Amino acid sequence: MNKNVYIETLGCQMNKSDSERIFGILSQCGYSKCDDSKDADLLIVNTCNIRQLSADKAYSLLGKWCQRKKEHPDIKIAICGCVAQQDKEQVFKRLRGVDLVFGTHNIYELPDLIKMVSDGEQVCAIRKEPYKANALDYPIERAEGVNAWLPIIEGCDYFCTYCVVPYVRGRQRSRMPEEILEEAKRIVAQGYKEITLLGQTVDSYGRDIDDDSVNLSNLLRSLHSLDGLLRIRFVTSYPTDITDELIQTVKELDKVCEYFHIPMQSGNDEVLKNMRRRYTRAQYLEICNKIRTAMPDVSITSDFIVGFPGETQEQFEDTISIIDEAGLDYSNTASYSPRRQTPAATWRDRFIDEKTKKERLAILNQKVKDYSLYSNQKCVGKVMDILVESSKLEDGKIVVSGRTRSNKVVHAQGDESMIGTIVNVKIEEASTWCLKGKIV
Ligand code: SF4
Repeated sequence: MNKNVYIETLGCQMNKSDSERIFGILSQCGYSKCDDSKDADLLIVNTCNIRQLSADKAYSLLGKWCQRKKEHPDIKIAICGCVAQQDKEQVFKRLRGVDLVFGTHNIYELPDLIKMVSDGEQVCAIRKEPYKANALDYPIERAEGVNAWLPIIEGCDYFCTYCVVPYVRGRQRSRMPEEILEEAKRIVAQGYKEITLLGQTVDSYGRDIDDDSVNLSNLLRSLHSLDGLLRIRFVTSYPTDITDELIQTVKELDKVCEYFHIPMQSGNDEVLKNMRRRYTRAQYLEICNKIRTAMPDVSITSDFIVGFPGETQEQFEDTISIIDEAGLDYSNTASYSPRRQTPAATWRDRFIDEKTKKERLAILNQKVKDYSLYSNQKCVGKVMDILVESSKLEDGKIVVSGRTRSNKVVHAQGDESMIGTIVNVKIEEASTWCLKGKIV
């Protein structure tokens, strides 16, 4: 009998990509994807553990589903992702209605786990090492659209003192280039026009493979040759992994977009050292300058944490000033959230109070907004290539939306047939988060 599965995906693109793989695997077990959790026989929350807020959100959702289960005892409830990997059986202690806890390394085991759960077992499956499987043997139910996610690295080797990723996703593991290329071919054959390569430190691709020719530059070159593929992006970059060769490769290859997401986390050297980030403010600026010199129209975006343990007001101000100095087009921001297992979570005597963190975050957010508007205003008058992603009716006219090569969102009057194609748009208006223009 066909059943429905609903997945709530929290967190980063890696989780979105994992959910697409989970949908694909479950389709082989007789489950169809549904968009309303009320229609689901199996409910899964794919969790993020980067901040406490996100973990709390996952438990609150599970709590609601467990309540519903009291009236509908046949539904099954599962939790996966980074919170599941860390909390393991503890989940059952908090919420008895949960049927399945599976970790970040257990996705390909799902057919067996689902069978056990269907037979009435309560199952916790957390591997320390990935379940050995050939990803190409499993279907992937990708989100509809123009862009497809393609993970090329799992895990991370850096062990920044605030970050839980190496503990819940393991050490860096690069996929073999042939496997990535084959998956990319399938993506293009399905009609996707853009591929975004994913990795926590995407530019370190290949470092764990004993072959110097396996690196991000060479991977980009082989993907570039795929007919039908219009654009390639890659996220997330670790500053010092961006080599001169990579910058030249992005510059040379037409399909590779001039966009770098390079988390800096703090503008102050002492805080960076305490975070165990392996670069200084000066080195970060030098990398941004090199990229800008090679590609003047590039967008560089970043991530910042405010209120890291021990951060002084002066150190925080170094974060504010780096936005202008590095010319960061946009930045994701967050206040520091202590995560279990990480060294910084034990530095309680240096924790910054919530009020100060909130105030610093508000100041940083305003700075980011101001710079984003300034960056967008610089586009006015330019003709930019837009890969059209969607369309909608607005005041009786069809408005299409897409992204520039530099990842800025653009709206213009057009028609549905443009979806999946590149159009030229003359930019006429800029606001903080998007651009508007006319197709020329
Ligand atoms: S580089 Fe640092 S912040 Fe990024 S995933 Fe690795 S440990 Fe976490």
